[in-house]
Amino acid sequence: MNSTDLIDLPGIEIDQVKKMANQYDFYGHATAQKAVCPACHHASTTINARHLRKIQGLPIANRTVWLILKTCQFACLNPRCDCHFFMAPLSFMTAQAQRTNRLNALILRTVAQRSSTATAALLQSTGIQVHKSAICNLFKKKRHD
Ligand SMILES: [Zn+2]
Repeated sequence: MNSTDLIDLPGIEIDQVKKMANQYDFYGHATAQKAVCPACHHASTTINARHLRKIQGLPIANRTVWLILKTCQFACLNPRCDCHFFMAPLSFMTAQAQRTNRLNALILRTVAQRSSTATAALLQSTGIQVHKSAICNLFKKKRHD
């Protein structure tokens, strides 16, 4: 099994994995060759820049998993559109996220049964690095969605 299959997230390929005492760093890149402008809905294949994102994924064998991903900023070539550049979305995370959607879902399922302090301690023991305050913020955000 290769590391892209192991991580099992759509739209990315893993190029390299580094194993450390308490964590795995998965280095990868977004695979989308085109993206749709969120403002005018025209497709673009013109990549303007690449940005590095670091987000936490589900742990593996009680080690924290970090995804360090090169993501693409596309240029909108529609001359009537005010949006010149936009990031191609990744379906497994929200735009400003620090964790994958499935990791956030796991945290929310865990906190439903216990306090955020107990949740943080329990998750920490499995390799998930999350503070009590981040759990509270996630919980509040979920209630407003
Ligand atoms: Zn546009």
